[in-house]
Amino acid sequence: MKNRSRLLQQGTPGTGNVLYWMSREQRASNNPGLIFAANLAKERGKHLEVLFVLDDTFPEANQRSFSFLLEGLQETKTTLESLNIPFNLRLGNIPSIIISYLHLHKNALLVIDFNPLHHALAWKKELLSSLSIPIYEVDGHNIVPCWIASEKQEFAARTFRPKINRHLYEFLYPMPENETLRQEYSFIPETTDWKEILSSLKIDRSVEPVKKSSGETAARKTLQTFIHERIGRYATERNHIETDGCSGLSPYLHFGQISALEIALKVMNDTPADANREAFLEQLIVRRELAENFCYHNPDYDSFDGFPSWAKKTLLQHQRDEREHLYSLADFEQARTHDELWNKTQSVLVKSGTMHNYLRMFWGKKILEWSPSAEEAMQIAVYLNDKYQLDGRDPNGYTGCAWCIGGVHDRPWFNRPIFGNIRYMGANKFKNKQPFDPNLETE
Ligand SMILES: Cc1cc2nc3c(=O)[nH]c(=O)nc-3n(C[C@H](O)[C@H](O)[C@H](O)COP(=O)(O)OP(=O)(O)OC[C@H]3O[C@@H](n4cnc5c(N)ncnc54)[C@H](O)[C@@H]3O)c2cc1C
Repeated sequence: MKNRSRLLQQGTPGTGNVLYWMSREQRASNNPGLIFAANLAKERGKHLEVLFVLDDTFPEANQRSFSFLLEGLQETKTTLESLNIPFNLRLGNIPSIIISYLHLHKNALLVIDFNPLHHALAWKKELLSSLSIPIYEVDGHNIVPCWIASEKQEFAARTFRPKINRHLYEFLYPMPENETLRQEYSFIPETTDWKEILSSLKIDRSVEPVKKSSGETAARKTLQTFIHERIGRYATERNHIETDGCSGLSPYLHFGQISALEIALKVMNDTPADANREAFLEQLIVRRELAENFCYHNPDYDSFDGFPSWAKKTLLQHQRDEREHLYSLADFEQARTHDELWNKTQSVLVKSGTMHNYLRMFWGKKILEWSPSAEEAMQIAVYLNDKYQLDGRDPNGYTGCAWCIGGVHDRPWFNRPIFGNIRYMGANKFKNKQPFDPNLETE
């Protein structure tokens, strides 16, 4: 198997089981971190166990994201335990719990998921400074591991595409079947009261759960439906706001309930090699992994400071430009702008946890146009995106907001008020179109 892992720290192995700390990749199937940990356990004559830690102080922790996460984990626990792999859930401060768990169980070594975002880097740092057992990291999120795809922050898709394509075929192969993970191990599975856990969490309950089913089975069903019903129109219809032309896979990808590799292989196997397939794989692989590259190499991925220098310069030059409309965070959040389409888009987001791909761009561009500065616009967009999007708190979200407001992965356009050289987007193309509303859909 091509290497998706790297050794973060050598150390002295404990005498107990191998521990896989599952965090970003919340699935039992096609999970490179889990497979890597299982192989290490076999090689060393040990057993594998899985730990998941839930921290309700996580930024933007709310009922919507936590109920989706817990529903998905239920299925993961059941599948793992059917393979005799213990799955233990703990609540509290993530690094402290992992450290005390490892001390208690004297685990041989630790395998963790790759994640380029700030909170995960802080957890990793704490683990590395507190533990003396070997620690490995596995990139189960990207098809080509982020550290292999490129060694630097890429300017745009055009500079990233040849780099990722150079490595892609080394990594495009199926993962071993679940059955190969089965171990001979008798243990008493922990009982987990999922409802009780959800109700005990101190989270924002005002952001309500969505109607979308969670978990690996639901993710595969969504993929299957997309392949049967919509991928054949993807290239032409993905930007039509009045139809549901996209896959709807982003929440499953965000919570790691399905792997991008599984999706890519299935699409390559089951659909003709045409413009639709190409357009979809461009988003799933090039754009998605470019977003990971941005967050991995740019510590200011979620703020004005992370924008390219040409964009910062032009935005600062236009900071004092007169704004016809100016709104506060509360105005945006409560959909109280003068623009009917923007308000409708925001209301759909608040209610359904999603937004059409093309409208996400319009939504972000208008936040720039109607905010006192680009710096505030970025803060507002990131805050709303993370709070309400089911797929929020994701490299794709930070990069999407930074593309709209700060020209990330884009080029300078014609100079105009407020935007300077940042690409503008007006509402003309949406005239007389009713945006697709997932609230009106039934599953
Ligand atoms: C302002 C703004 C905010 C965004 N916030 C998020 C977010 O919080 N989470 C998120 O996952 N995506 C975000 N995106 C990117 C994109 O809009 C969504 O990934 C896409 O709409 C999800 O719907 P889908 O799964 O049906 O996409 P599809 O069109 O079916 O694409 C399949 C997959 O490809 C990836 N993808 C598609 N478009 C992009 C893109 N532009 N950049 C990177 N990857 C892409 C996603 O993983 C997606 O699930 C944002 C874009 C913008 C402009």
